[in-house]
Amino acid sequence: MVTTPGGGKDTLVQIRDLSVTYHTRLGPLSAVSGVSFDIRRGEILGLVGESGCGKSTLGRALMRMVAPPAEISQGQLLFDGEDIMAYDGEKMRDFRGRRVSMIFQDPLTSLNPVQRVDEHVVEAIQVHEPQTTIRVALNRARTLIQTLGIRANRLRDYPHQLSGGMRQRVMAGLGLVLNADLIVADEATTSLDVIVEAKLLDEFKRLRDEFNLTILLITHNIALVAQIADRIAVMYAGQMAEVGDVVTVFDDPCHPYTEGLLRSVPNVKLNEREVLYKMGGEPPNLTHPPMGCRFHPRCPMAMPICSAEEPALLPVVGDVEHLVHCWLHQPQTRGAEAQA
Ligand code: SF4
Repeated sequence: MVTTPGGGKDTLVQIRDLSVTYHTRLGPLSAVSGVSFDIRRGEILGLVGESGCGKSTLGRALMRMVAPPAEISQGQLLFDGEDIMAYDGEKMRDFRGRRVSMIFQDPLTSLNPVQRVDEHVVEAIQVHEPQTTIRVALNRARTLIQTLGIRANRLRDYPHQLSGGMRQRVMAGLGLVLNADLIVADEATTSLDVIVEAKLLDEFKRLRDEFNLTILLITHNIALVAQIADRIAVMYAGQMAEVGDVVTVFDDPCHPYTEGLLRSVPNVKLNEREVLYKMGGEPPNLTHPPMGCRFHPRCPMAMPICSAEEPALLPVVGDVEHLVHCWLHQPQTRGAEAQA
């Protein structure tokens, strides 16, 4: 059973019981397994987890950009109340770009090496807004690119003439130029220096505040989420471990994995006697995930039931907005660790 509050008028995206499977030579790999959560209109939701936890696959699945050997093997995706799994080619093309844009993590493989930056931007605008003239599209490109800290004359450059950070900003610009309702930003700031990263984050916040833009920020950098996000969703081994308001989860994490992640963030306040927490073990092989809770082989709080049965994603007592996928917070076993 999965409980997810929301689904009202403030909910932009509803993801229900979504699974993505890769068909590999070693058998089916469940990269995303029965994930349910909502994205609310006008919020910045940080989606975090270790490499390989399924967060980027989930971001792509949201745009139905999962290609063979992977497939969305089950689940429901509702955007503004509409079932986007039922969209055909034409409707889907319009949906991607006009309603949802993605900022990818690897700009070099996403930008066409023989197209100048201005050609990328004009093409992106005119595919979705054929009535927009080249002059108007170029003006929009110029304004946006300057906002992201790149001089307008660099629009005439080819991708290889830009630095890695500039290419990343161009990618961000392409994601933002269509004024979509939802931006899926996948490790969008990974290759940026801290000053440029701060500019891009400010731009995200400005767009959220001025235009009620919704942003799904996919990152392994939990500190980034603390800076900018309203809510946080923590993934582990293809499943949702914990979802909640960012302040609540940072102050009082309920899933042992979230707690471990937070304790392993470098902190300048650590004194010389304190050591950074190091989570033991390795993420599981998702072609043969562990029975029960997938975190149990690494969990310092594991109980006998954890390796036998999978818990549900349920609200923490007293906070229906804070969901956790852990036996420590299920009605039938709550408090059991105190007796163990
Ligand atoms: Fe740990 Fe059990 Fe909770 Fe999994 S269900 S996180 S093993 S306590």
